[in-house]
Amino acid sequence: MILSAQHAISSLDENERRVYEVILRATKTDGGIFQVKLKELNELKSLEPQQIAKIVSRLVKKGLVKRKLVNNNGKSMYFLQALILEQPKVEVSPSLSINIPIEMSSVMSIPCFRCKELYNCGEASSHSPLRCPLLTSFLINLTKTNSTRKRS
Ligand code: SF4
Repeated sequence: MILSAQHAISSLDENERRVYEVILRATKTDGGIFQVKLKELNELKSLEPQQIAKIVSRLVKKGLVKRKLVNNNGKSMYFLQALILEQPKVEVSPSLSINIPIEMSSVMSIPCFRCKELYNCGEASSHSPLRCPLLTSFLINLTKTNSTRKRS
């Protein structure tokens, strides 16, 4: 799997690689990115929106990107996530490492991915994770679910 993915990456042309790297970076920092946001990024401004859409489709076909239709305040939008090739590794000692698998469906249940304020949200903004009732409610439910699982 890793070998074929690496082969797919090495076969990308320059534009495909630029789009893939943007999606990969967004996946690592924010869990992914809405496809509609790609055309707004400076590094992809030289590409036409249709060209970006075709590239994304090719990346999906090559198995490098996962594209999911999500509801964002009544609008259906594609949310993109690069398939992370390296499992996150925590170096404990030079001879021991720990692989942490990531369940993408649990990432997608985070309310921020369906929130219209996602790109305006921040500590200094009127919308903030520190004061967000949606996020607080989600975390409380998650904690309750995890506590119930541990007891059973
Ligand atoms: S923290 Fe709240 S307001 Fe901010 S993006 Fe997430 S759901 Fe939206």
